[in-house]
Amino acid sequence: MAERMQLCNISDNNFEQCTKCSICTTVCPVAAVTTDYPGPKQAGPDGERYRLKDHAYYDKALKLCLNCKRCEVACPSGVNIADIIQHARMKAGEGQRASLRDTMLANTDLLGMVANLVAPVANATLGLAPTKLVMDSVMAIDKHRTFPAYSRTKFTTWFKRHAAKEQDAYPNHVSYFHGCYVNYNFPKLGQDLVKLMNAVGYGVHLLDKEQCCGVALIANGLYKQAKRQARTNADSIRKSVKDDHLTVLTTSSSCTFNLRDEYPSLLGVDTSDVRDGIMIATRFIYNLVDEEKIKLIFKQDFKKRMAYHTACHMQRMGWQLYSIELLRRIPGLDLQVLEQECCGISGTYGFKKENYERSQAIGSILFKHIEDAKVEAVITDCETCKWQIEMSTGLPVENPISVLADALDVEATRRANGLQI
Ligand code: SF4
Ligand code: SF4
Repeated sequence: MAERMQLCNISDNNFEQCTKCSICTTVCPVAAVTTDYPGPKQAGPDGERYRLKDHAYYDKALKLCLNCKRCEVACPSGVNIADIIQHARMKAGEGQRASLRDTMLANTDLLGMVANLVAPVANATLGLAPTKLVMDSVMAIDKHRTFPAYSRTKFTTWFKRHAAKEQDAYPNHVSYFHGCYVNYNFPKLGQDLVKLMNAVGYGVHLLDKEQCCGVALIANGLYKQAKRQARTNADSIRKSVKDDHLTVLTTSSSCTFNLRDEYPSLLGVDTSDVRDGIMIATRFIYNLVDEEKIKLIFKQDFKKRMAYHTACHMQRMGWQLYSIELLRRIPGLDLQVLEQECCGISGTYGFKKENYERSQAIGSILFKHIEDAKVEAVITDCETCKWQIEMSTGLPVENPISVLADALDVEATRRANGLQI
């Protein structure tokens, strides 16, 4: 049997299920804006047939793939197209060193720790035109790109100082995988989650050890480091889910997808035993509300018109409905749900000079939809979509958890959930 498999070049992935319908190519945002990219069908299952014979058939254009997973959502045969492409890229990158730029962009923990120490200076410097020009010419980080601001205080520092002690007092408990963006750039999102969960009777706890989920490391070819960090996170998550019986909540769709699905499929780090215990916070809260286990009471004077953008990885998980349905429960929120389009940034992809124009061309359909929606702000579950939309439309972008926390009548919610005010 082993001999037959070798002769037939049967792969570990499921490319043989491809029926060559080409639907995937019609939804690929990269193929839509450039002829340099062969599209998912050719880059994925078609190319795989050749690569299995000889990896010299690897096409360098595969690096243009965003790993947005839109092709996988569309494929009627369930082919793991983007995974096939990522594996081909990983094999092609074996033994190669990532460039200084890619290493820097991918090491979000290291960058965040250094930038936090000098946040006001780092923020001011990164925003200066001469700095952008130097980064553009020396490191090929596009000069049009705006880096997210760094916070003076890390989320974990705030949590230890202001929230940790009181968490045990709540009747129910969850863990929180905050991710790099919340920790180094935007602690408010983590604070909003704590506010929201506390108001409905849940104490929030940090994992024993958390490192960057590694999504940027994978995208930039630092696979060994990504695997090391994945093992650390998987161990912490396993302790939370299995030993402490605490669901691990997240507030980033890309981190969530990576922890649940790409650790096993791309890095070979098995999280299947705890996969169901990793959940984006809106899904967890929606289920509690739907089962009438908790109540959310919103302020009467909260009035906003906002548009919800479905991030590609949120769509891949099929979880956007939880965010949307929760947001629809806010009486004062006039919510426009945008048609799903890729924003084009794909993490660090859009920061790179060679990708910038393509990234903006991909996002242009979404930007137009946002402009037409005539809203005061946009909501999305992905932080890099937030950077792209804020930079490209000038509108503020918020996570659903922050919108829920802003609209929440905390005292009334605590009372409704039987807590002492
Ligand atoms: S993952 Fe996205 S960019 Fe890559 S082939 Fe699929 S649709 Fe195209
Ligand atoms: S959508 Fe699926 S079955 Fe159709 S060509 Fe693409 S990979 Fe093959």
